Amino acid sequence: MNINTVNLKRAFYTLPNWVSYLTGICKPYPVGYNIICITKRCNLKCKMCNIWKEPPSDDLINAPILARTISNSTMLSKIQVAVFTGGEPFLRKDLSEIIIELFGKTNTNRVLIATNGVLGVKIIKDLNAVFNHKSSVGKQVSIQISLDGIGKVHDRIRGVEGTFGHVHSTIEKLKELKTCYRNRLRIGITGIFQYENKDDFKNVYRYALNNDIEFGCGIIINTEYNKVKNSKYNKSLLTDIKEEDLTGLSEDIKDALINWLSSEEKIGKMRCFAGFNSVFWDTNGDIYPCHHTSHLNTYKMGNILESDFDTLWKSENANFVRSRVKKCDIKGDCMLGGCNIASQKVQYCLPHYLVKLFTLGKIDLYKRLGYYG
Ligand code: SF4
Ligand code: SF4
Repeated sequence: MNINTVNLKRAFYTLPNWVSYLTGICKPYPVGYNIICITKRCNLKCKMCNIWKEPPSDDLINAPILARTISNSTMLSKIQVAVFTGGEPFLRKDLSEIIIELFGKTNTNRVLIATNGVLGVKIIKDLNAVFNHKSSVGKQVSIQISLDGIGKVHDRIRGVEGTFGHVHSTIEKLKELKTCYRNRLRIGITGIFQYENKDDFKNVYRYALNNDIEFGCGIIINTEYNKVKNSKYNKSLLTDIKEEDLTGLSEDIKDALINWLSSEEKIGKMRCFAGFNSVFWDTNGDIYPCHHTSHLNTYKMGNILESDFDTLWKSENANFVRSRVKKCDIKGDCMLGGCNIASQKVQYCLPHYLVKLFTLGKIDLYKRLGYYG
């Protein structure tokens, strides 16, 4: 993370979260990430996810509700990044309208969309609509595409034949679009390391490098829709990795994978700031600390269709949920994964900067604490 004014401002806002976490005296600011489940519908049938088996649910939060809730909230208006997850976000007909509303009516200046990348034509249509709208000037959209293998490997993991071909074609289109919009469009690939792709993972990394696209990796983590007991799965995967599986990956990616796969005990001792510095919206307006708790009623902080966000965030119930987060019993399964890792990194950015400064860059506190990626 580079030190710039935006990051310094975020670092400053993390202080109330530390005080709140350690003493409960003041209310935390959710300055890390605003993670919004935009739809639970999906057009794939991935092995590591069961969302597509669930009965369809209504997408109750829409562009006006999102923009109004965020702009009326002192807390939420501090967050400049919105993360859209799902399901498959591009199945929403009004996705471009939602982004335009957020850019036009809130302080959001970056929207990150996690997508399976299959709906190439819709992705390009939505992005053109956003970038051609005046509210998006100076704002950025990041498209984070899931890619777990090349050709049949990806198709097998994602459960639908032809998926890799669609993703590849979307990436080609996005690269072309980037020549028009440059820094306003960011493209990334995320690969999930698992048994099915352990010997093909390096090829995904190489594919990203060859296409000049940022690459991020992850491991299987437990979510509402993934009932794998992942701590056992990951331990066993770690034992079965062969040296040649990792050959060709960068040292950082190797480090991150090995550490994540072996970090169950370490994760158990790490602090979780979900519900302090980050917030998760379900499609029906329910608010939770994180994705992983969003199927547990005991972690529900409230619903933004029934209350304004600041009242909800400061409520006794939200405080009670935060006390549960501090001793969360599913931490070993969630591995503090996905966006939570990113928001934990935001929470530790101030100590990280200070350690970096005083050790002349020799000590990386994030790595020492186990926050890779
Ligand atoms: S992992 Fe993503 S793309 Fe796959 S079924 Fe789940 S939501 Fe859909
Ligand atoms: S430990 Fe994991 S499941 Fe529990 S609140 Fe934190 S991110 Fe969510």
